Amino acid sequence: MKKIALFPGSFDPFTMGHLDTVERGARIFDEVILGVFVNTGKKNWFTPSERHELIKASVAHLPNVRVEAQTSELTVDYAKKMGANFLLRGIRSMKDYEYEKDIMAMNRHLDQDLETVFLLANPQYAHISSSLLKEVVLFGGNVAEYLPEPIYQAMLRKRDSLEK
Ligand code: ADP
Repeated sequence: MKKIALFPGSFDPFTMGHLDTVERGARIFDEVILGVFVNTGKKNWFTPSERHELIKASVAHLPNVRVEAQTSELTVDYAKKMGANFLLRGIRSMKDYEYEKDIMAMNRHLDQDLETVFLLANPQYAHISSSLLKEVVLFGGNVAEYLPEPIYQAMLRKRDSLEK
């Protein structure tokens, strides 16, 4: 059976930490589907279709990775619909671990066939989050090395439009 993993997230925006996790996941699984959440409670900078386009450009070098929009439905239902038998998530810290283990237990309760696989963050990127990067960009700090180049440029443009 083909090993297909769904990597769900809000990716607002997609960072080098996310990219590192996807690249490593793509070596483990036959296929990785990046599911971009359409509806989350978070304050987003990018629309789902902007996020989709930016991520697509950033993973174009990975032939077994594709990007999909995930509608507001249960992750386990979406995974089943996409034919995924694994969930892929990244863990940066104990805080992520505490949060992720509850989600994993709930997803297991909802679907026993779906196994969650965690990859520990690359130490180079373990301190970054999409929200921290937005905060720093907003106040003019340089975080270019933590973002795929087109995404950093898009953030600078977005910041300028937010300021107006
Ligand atoms: P969500 O809103 O689902 O938490 P995110 O886009 O913030 O979505 O994160 C998606 C996944 O990527 C989560 O499992 C998160 O722990 C992981 N992740 C976020 N930042 C990093 C990073 N710098 N390195 C590795 N994994 C990360």
